[in-house]
Amino acid sequence: MFISLQQLEQRPVQFKVNLPAGEIEFDSKITQSTVLHAEGAVNLLNHALGEIRVQGKLNVAVSATCDRCLEAASIAIDNDFDLVYMPAGESAVGEEEIDHEAIEVGFYEGNGLELNDVLREIVLLALPMRVVCSEACKGICPVCGRNRNQTDCGCHEDAIDDRWSKLRSLKTEVGGQN
Ligand SMILES: [Zn+2]
Ligand SMILES: [Zn+2]
Repeated sequence: MFISLQQLEQRPVQFKVNLPAGEIEFDSKITQSTVLHAEGAVNLLNHALGEIRVQGKLNVAVSATCDRCLEAASIAIDNDFDLVYMPAGESAVGEEEIDHEAIEVGFYEGNGLELNDVLREIVLLALPMRVVCSEACKGICPVCGRNRNQTDCGCHEDAIDDRWSKLRSLKTEVGGQN
């Protein structure tokens, strides 16, 4: 859905969309796993500067790789958003001139906004810095490389030292029966 400046000069544009996976191309780090619902309004804040404000809410679930165990982790996003877009290349307008309570500032090229691009950005901004499948994820064993959520390998991390490699394999035999 493209929202042009000409449309916005007439009146604010309301939107309500349900986008199946594949409608928006995310980067390779995440996969959309449910329909993305978003609704809200787009307003032209300032005709002369071309500032466009996009407010609304969005929910979707995506999956990404757990930073600890490398298995798929599901991330539910259910966010209110409030963004301001300015025309790209208007370097005369500094961010400090935006006194709205909007949290994020983006840029657009041409004569309007592609809603899917906005939604894509909102999803990417909502992702946590560290993705974990669960707070209790035990991760990969640095000694034997097994997923410690699936198997209790029984390795002792403090035993990593080549001088002890023979002893370690003996220990693994003794201690790693289950
Ligand atoms: Zn994990
Ligand atoms: Zn191990």
